[in-house]
Amino acid sequence: MKAVMKVFLTRRIPQEGMKILSAAGVCEVSQWDSDEPVPRTELLKGVQGAHGLLCLLSDKIDAEVLDAAGPNLKVISTMSVGFDHLALDEIKKRGIRIGYTPDVLTDATAELTVALLLATARRLPEGVEEVKNGGWSSWKPLWLCGYGLMGSTVGVVGLGRIGMAIAQRLLPFGVNRLLYSGRTAKPRAAEVKGEFVPLDTLVSESDFIVVSCSLTPETQGLCDKAFFSKMKKTAVFINSSRGAVVNQEDLYEALSSGQIAAAGLDVTTPEPLPTNHPLLTLKNCVVLPHIGSATYSTRGVMSALTAQNLLGGLQDSDMPSELRF
Ligand code: NAP
Repeated sequence: MKAVMKVFLTRRIPQEGMKILSAAGVCEVSQWDSDEPVPRTELLKGVQGAHGLLCLLSDKIDAEVLDAAGPNLKVISTMSVGFDHLALDEIKKRGIRIGYTPDVLTDATAELTVALLLATARRLPEGVEEVKNGGWSSWKPLWLCGYGLMGSTVGVVGLGRIGMAIAQRLLPFGVNRLLYSGRTAKPRAAEVKGEFVPLDTLVSESDFIVVSCSLTPETQGLCDKAFFSKMKKTAVFINSSRGAVVNQEDLYEALSSGQIAAAGLDVTTPEPLPTNHPLLTLKNCVVLPHIGSATYSTRGVMSALTAQNLLGGLQDSDMPSELRF
């Protein structure tokens, strides 16, 4: 009889994934059984001797974790499409496979990004607050005015799966030009009449900038003082990729000085953003708690895919979504 393999789960995950793991009957599951992140010491303990590790984007998987796991570890399955929390070089060196969750969260994340853009540009949180606090006195011609998408130029930084889905959703609002930047031009951009332009052109010509690129050494801090200083004063900045793509001090400066009109962030550094963070004092900054993929069905599908990837890796067979790196 084949020995049962050990897997460690760093969090409670939706039942869809748990059912798949238990039905497979090939692994013994131990788990950080909480909705809160696993403390580092518990992660280092829990992973010891594991053949498989199921983790989330909040778990930093580096050489220390891999060393703690030891030579049994053959697969890391992350319940995320982003993989900037995984030390790829170290993982590759040890011949460990990686599973992740592209595609299944694209629609939910694009939808949330559009909601954030509209909420930020049309000042929804401010409006809701004014209704509650008595600030709503009468209909006033210029009160709570914002910016609309009709006739606008939208710039997408990183027209990948999610960037493309955002563009598709924004076009019906009457967007006039769709610019995008990245390392390479994308054939699918034709579907949204996307123009591949240098980043500087995108930044200076867009009325709305949406950041949907992956976090890499190249994109870390990409949106900084120089970036914001090239934006139109009436432009709105949206980030639903990773917090570290933005230099938050520079963003604060740009927002508080009127260099740019407003910003909407679904991701920050750190997460959670401390409640006394300067960005939270600004009316023209809308911050969400990293809820891009947060629909019940999407999280269920992500959980199932993460479990299937883990099983594929454990059994040396195909994973539905393996990261090739
Ligand atoms: P993807 O298809 O791999 O798209 C990433 C895009 O980033 C690619 O088009 C890539 O363009 C671009 N990129 C890489 N380097 C760039 C650079 N220097 N400048 C501009 N663009 C660059 O991934 P995805 O599925 O769309 O996901 C994108 C990211 O969204 C994930 O990595 C994750 O961090 C984030 N995300 C956030 C949430 C949330 O809850 N807010 C949910 C899901 C994902 P090239 O191909 O030209 O390199």
